[in-house]
Amino acid sequence: MKSIWHETKTLPKYSPLPGSIHTEAAIIGGGLAGILTAFYLTRSGIRTVILEARRIGSGQTGGTTAKITSQHNLIYQRLIRTFGENDARLYAAANQQAITEYARLIRSCSIDCGFKETSACLYTRTTGSLLNQEYRAASRLGIPARLSSETELPFPVKNALYFSNQAQFHPLKFLEAIARELTIYEDTPVISVKNHNRLLTPHGEVTARHIIFACHSPFLLWPGLYFARLYQSRNYMLALAGAPRLENTYLGINSDGYSFRTSGERLILGGKGCRTGSIPDNPYQALQNFVHKYYPNAKVSTRWSAQDCISLDGVPFIGRYSLLEPDWYVITGFGKWGMTSSMAAAQIITRMICKKSAPWDHIFTPQRLRLKASWKEALSHLSHSSKGLAAGLFSPDRRCPHMGCRLVWNPYENTWECPCHGSRFTQQGKILSGPAQTDLAEK
Ligand SMILES: Cc1cc2nc3c(=O)[nH]c(=O)nc-3n(C[C@H](O)[C@H](O)[C@H](O)COP(=O)(O)OP(=O)(O)OC[C@H]3O[C@@H](n4cnc5c(N)ncnc54)[C@H](O)[C@@H]3O)c2cc1C
Repeated sequence: MKSIWHETKTLPKYSPLPGSIHTEAAIIGGGLAGILTAFYLTRSGIRTVILEARRIGSGQTGGTTAKITSQHNLIYQRLIRTFGENDARLYAAANQQAITEYARLIRSCSIDCGFKETSACLYTRTTGSLLNQEYRAASRLGIPARLSSETELPFPVKNALYFSNQAQFHPLKFLEAIARELTIYEDTPVISVKNHNRLLTPHGEVTARHIIFACHSPFLLWPGLYFARLYQSRNYMLALAGAPRLENTYLGINSDGYSFRTSGERLILGGKGCRTGSIPDNPYQALQNFVHKYYPNAKVSTRWSAQDCISLDGVPFIGRYSLLEPDWYVITGFGKWGMTSSMAAAQIITRMICKKSAPWDHIFTPQRLRLKASWKEALSHLSHSSKGLAAGLFSPDRRCPHMGCRLVWNPYENTWECPCHGSRFTQQGKILSGPAQTDLAEK
């Protein structure tokens, strides 16, 4: 089924690449990260093209909940512990600045995209101490935060942490508006990169001085080794008609917590997050049971799922793709917080290409090594990947074309999923999302 965004916005169609071309910057991927980056590069006078494998907004941007917030779950206490207080403050500033820039851009270009200022709220129904700690961390960093036990949710909470000056919007209405002046080629997958600056597609080659990988999950194995530094996690969503409107956005911090926001007359309810390839027990039924209990008068109008890349230390990779390729850039690993992170990324990459910088750019560098912040996730990723690879050796008929891991069947989506790196395929073996780039081999 379609997401609420695809149901309510049909984006214009762009033609495929007409033949080989030369340009200053080529962006691989027309999601929010790629389109925003093209927008700022173009405004800085850099000739830029976007190469999109399918349609713009057809990736995870079309399945998001589109809360524009610097409240990235319980991130600040962790960042202070692992990156240090100064970098934690800069991370908050980068994301808060992204919210301000959305508001400025949407106002100055009169973009009609349902942009609404809200507070963002984390809640818990079990114990309040984690949110007390996050509140203290946020306050130390100068984030406008407050604790309360009051929410608009239909059940009592033990504790709730509000950040003010946050926002929400319709991601595809925004995308359509900023894409208008850009050069976009759809149905143009980049298959490989040759001689540092030649992008090969089925319709011709693009030669570019700067190459930006904004394709969600980088598909090259080398350089960069992003397959070893990222995993993907999936969530399931319902849009409900007939549920009360919410003024703020909400996210439960416990494993049984849900995400809530209103769009138009409908409530978006999301949850059941799981590493891609680890299938939760009937996630849509669990969401539906929740609706029966807490919103008995509401009706499900659509349902969908989406996934995002997560870096092992929890901070996105934005910057130089690899020291071996100084003119390649990467934007990935948003950890389900890609709205503010895409805005921050677009500005960081534009500054790098224009030889400028901001105080927070270094936090996101893909060349960082933050062992203290990443070792637990690294061990878990290694364990999942080695099990998937080993299983793949004995299952030649269901191997992922990316690295050979054994695919897992998701009966709730009718898809094959790679438990190692998160690629997805239809029942018939057609590629849905990467890092794999090709369909499954015929049996
Ligand atoms: C359930 C869910 C809820 C979320 N809610 C929020 C939220 O409330 N707030 C928030 O900040 N973030 C949220 N996120 C995260 C956010 O949606 C993502 O981080 C963001 O949309 C990612 O954008 P992107 O441009 O990087 O990727 P995408 O939108 O996936 O775009 C990548 C594009 O690259 C294209 N592509 C791939 N390979 C190639 C190739 N070889 N050649 C050419 N093109 C290629 C794809 O077709 C795709 O269109 C959520 C994520 C999920 C999963």
